[in-house]
Amino acid sequence: MKPTLILVNPSNPYRKGFTLRRESRQVPLGLGLVAALTPQTWKVVLIDENIKPFRFRPGDLVAITAFTSTAARAYEIASIYRNRGIPVVMGGIHASIKPYEALQYVDAVVVGEAESIWKQVVEDFEAGKLQKIYYASPADLSSMPQPRHEIFHPSYLFASIQTSRGCPMDCDFCSVPAFNGHGYRLRPVEAIWDEIASVPHQLLYFVDDNIVGYNEKARAHAYELFEGMIRRNLRKEWFAQASLNIARDAELLKLAARSGCKMLLIGVEAETEDSLRDANKRLNIKMGVDNYSRAFRAIHKAGIAVLGAFIYGMDSDTPESLRKRTQYILRSSVDVVQASAMTPLPGTRLYERMRLENRLLPTKLPLDYQHFHFTDVVFCPAKMDAQTLSEEMNRAYASICSMNQIRMKFLRTWWNTRSLRTAIWAWNSNLNYRAVALEKPSIAINTDLS
Ligand code: SF4
Repeated sequence: MKPTLILVNPSNPYRKGFTLRRESRQVPLGLGLVAALTPQTWKVVLIDENIKPFRFRPGDLVAITAFTSTAARAYEIASIYRNRGIPVVMGGIHASIKPYEALQYVDAVVVGEAESIWKQVVEDFEAGKLQKIYYASPADLSSMPQPRHEIFHPSYLFASIQTSRGCPMDCDFCSVPAFNGHGYRLRPVEAIWDEIASVPHQLLYFVDDNIVGYNEKARAHAYELFEGMIRRNLRKEWFAQASLNIARDAELLKLAARSGCKMLLIGVEAETEDSLRDANKRLNIKMGVDNYSRAFRAIHKAGIAVLGAFIYGMDSDTPESLRKRTQYILRSSVDVVQASAMTPLPGTRLYERMRLENRLLPTKLPLDYQHFHFTDVVFCPAKMDAQTLSEEMNRAYASICSMNQIRMKFLRTWWNTRSLRTAIWAWNSNLNYRAVALEKPSIAINTDLS
């Protein structure tokens, strides 16, 4: 009989977030990759709490992943297996940043991208000599295997596809460079087309941090990718993250739209240069805040909706400036709004700064990690108290996520993009964010102790 590898995707019991609605669930793509890297002499079983609550499944080895917000739950599930004598290996972004913390709850940790090291982990387990820490090197994407999408539950509406990794930028709040590095690596387009053709989903999410990259090579890769999707008649609709400078390339936007692009998530972060400087968002400073609306117009012209991501709680923010941010959002032509509380994720420069300045609020770790989901306030802001920031978050959600606002945005998106289909995409995405905002109000954690 084949040995069994149990893959576990934990979900945050405190806040369901994007797993609340089927329309916003995202597959645990990294586990699909681990499944593909596992020798065929193994049987692979996925336990996915995005879909169903945890139920123990017997196995020989467990591989568990976690974001910071799901780390406490991952440790809880790990202990269930370890209590039965089944070894647990943890990977993913949180364990990679905090391997020694994770080792208090699991048997082994994979630090970094699994591709270069997973085979050795399995061989060591088979030989009875599992090590405590495995340091992986950044993967060569030209030999990256296709993730095993068939292990994911069929109710996922979107297939997730990766076309690149890494980011040369250095935004204060972002953990991508710490995990994937500053080198921007591209995956061969043929492999991406084949993967897209192999999934039955009509809807795709390109999980890249920036689908168009930061240099000419990356731009040429995006051109080739979109042209090939059209030539191969892949007939998918998709969304992705992109930097604001995509708005300067009308040809690329047109091509993206023809290949099925309906929405681009743009890290706008803030509408003032001071706040952008706080976050070290260099690209937006270079583009100029006064050029935002022109950029949104260019994206709309291609028939694509703008999902604008904004942050509340940067060091120069005051309650008054946050209300102005909300007003800006309401008046702007951004179609879908992601409004997040500034969150110092482990591994970021922001986290280190907050730690050194004694501004982190969590006192009960790892349990308090469940509040690192970008809605609660987990640090002391510079120009207001934590409680005030959470009240401002709730005030912002009440106006941004009201049904009146969402209905108005639907009509405006339809008008601006001249595409009913794009407006429907934006409508659905706004309902996703509304569900997240309505699930629970934002709170400032442990403020009685601060
Ligand atoms: S926020 Fe985006 S641009 Fe900034 S470091 Fe992260 S991935 Fe790069």
